[in-house]
Amino acid sequence: MNTNTKPAVALVAHDNKKRDLVEWCQHNKALLQEYQLLATGTTGKLVAEETGLEVKRLKSGPLGGDLQIGAMIAEGTVDYLIFLWDPLEAQPHDPDVKALLRIAAVWNIPVACNRATADYIFTSRLLNEKYDRKHPDYADYLNRNIDTEEEAEKS
Ligand code: PGA
Repeated sequence: MNTNTKPAVALVAHDNKKRDLVEWCQHNKALLQEYQLLATGTTGKLVAEETGLEVKRLKSGPLGGDLQIGAMIAEGTVDYLIFLWDPLEAQPHDPDVKALLRIAAVWNIPVACNRATADYIFTSRLLNEKYDRKHPDYADYLNRNIDTEEEAEKS
């Protein structure tokens, strides 16, 4: 659970999308001051330098930063993900990219993969309401029956 009073926004941009993300942050600087920002290493460095916003920097994406954000989403400490991934260039850490997008879907957090979606999310009327994001219930999955060798022998 995110115990910080400000909701947390994770920022990640692939190299060809970093300019886009920096511009978006500059454009939305006043709004973003109301959030706790965290980002993969290089993205965070650029956003902090070019906007003056305070950004907690994690490891660079290909060095584990995407997975760090994924772990934080699983722990409930990230509320929004803006992930400007590059659809035209293969990434060395493609499995991590997939893992990050997957875990964001697992935990039902709002995700923007392009500027248009980021604009929609951060102009939503839901930002000003006490939005009760549905936390998926994975009890059935956690309590599923596993046919262990021992149990198989019994039957
Ligand atoms: P970077 O990582 O911000 O450290 O460049 C982004 C990514 O996941 O590629």
